[in-house]
Amino acid sequence: MALSLCTGCGTSRLGHYYADKDLQVRLDGSPSRNLLIHYFGCGGMAIQHGETLLMTDPFFSNFSLGSIALKTIVGGNIQPKPTNIEYGLSRLPAGIDMEDIKGVFISHAHYDHLLDVPWLFKYRWAAAPPKVYGSGTAAFILSQFDLPPGRMVNVEPFMAGPHQDGQWIKINPGVRVLPIKSHHAPHFLGIKLYAGENQSKFRKKPGSFKSKLNHWREGQTLAYLFEFSDGDSVFNLFVQTSASKIPMGLPTADVLKGRQVDLAVLCVASYNNVKGYPDHHLEQLRPKGTIFVHWEDFFRGYRKSKLRTVPGTNVKRFVEQVDKIYDGTFWLPAPGVTFDINY
Ligand SMILES: [Zn+2]
Repeated sequence: MALSLCTGCGTSRLGHYYADKDLQVRLDGSPSRNLLIHYFGCGGMAIQHGETLLMTDPFFSNFSLGSIALKTIVGGNIQPKPTNIEYGLSRLPAGIDMEDIKGVFISHAHYDHLLDVPWLFKYRWAAAPPKVYGSGTAAFILSQFDLPPGRMVNVEPFMAGPHQDGQWIKINPGVRVLPIKSHHAPHFLGIKLYAGENQSKFRKKPGSFKSKLNHWREGQTLAYLFEFSDGDSVFNLFVQTSASKIPMGLPTADVLKGRQVDLAVLCVASYNNVKGYPDHHLEQLRPKGTIFVHWEDFFRGYRKSKLRTVPGTNVKRFVEQVDKIYDGTFWLPAPGVTFDINY
């Protein structure tokens, strides 16, 4: 999560890069296939390719900065907000059904990337529970909530990194994913909140979603490279929902060699607390298009129509910096926006 003391700004300062309406995007001259990406806010997305429906970091239960600060300092419980989740899911385009989600990919175990997962298992995924892919810490935290057995996949043994190619995980015959060892930018003044692992059991009444904010420790932060194959065509989607110290969060040059990254999803929050981000990622990945996420203020009500930028990050400066160095097309979508990517 990203936390700071100064307030964010309105969206007018983001110019035409701000997308508050659904978009049809052409990545190739004569597109014949498509991939849908629906943005929920923070690192949350639904990704649909053919019959495959995936999800990343689902989070809808925004809390005020004051309440998070207080619970961080003196301790206190948080729990998912069903009205927010219902609202967020109601904005999915027709044809995307939450019950069809096959895999959920978690960047790290902070509350704004993982908190709503147990609720979704109980109220949306009871009939066909998907697999959740993430760190050992994410797996441990989820094990404290009565999830169906065998659903959590600790991807740490498969991670690629700056010096290791890693191992692709097959999701189904047309989709595979490479988990990448990443890093989480400090929140402010070089300080990272809720760092480290959580391997100690926390008490919870059976059936309750209540948990202490401080239980949602980062664990190993991850990025993911998805490869969607369809006959002779391959679509590469890179997803990183936390800004990282470079070269963390990137696969080896060997993995990228001869591979066109079609679309990257990169994080904005706290980018100013790590050097060379996102410039280095854009230079190495050279994506045709980039969706920047985790840019909006998630310390305000989830249903607010007027958005503000995340506190502590100068998003206008971020946009100007990217504009200077990046040749591809990029967007900062409002939660609820769907991209229909044609390629
Ligand atoms: Zn975080």
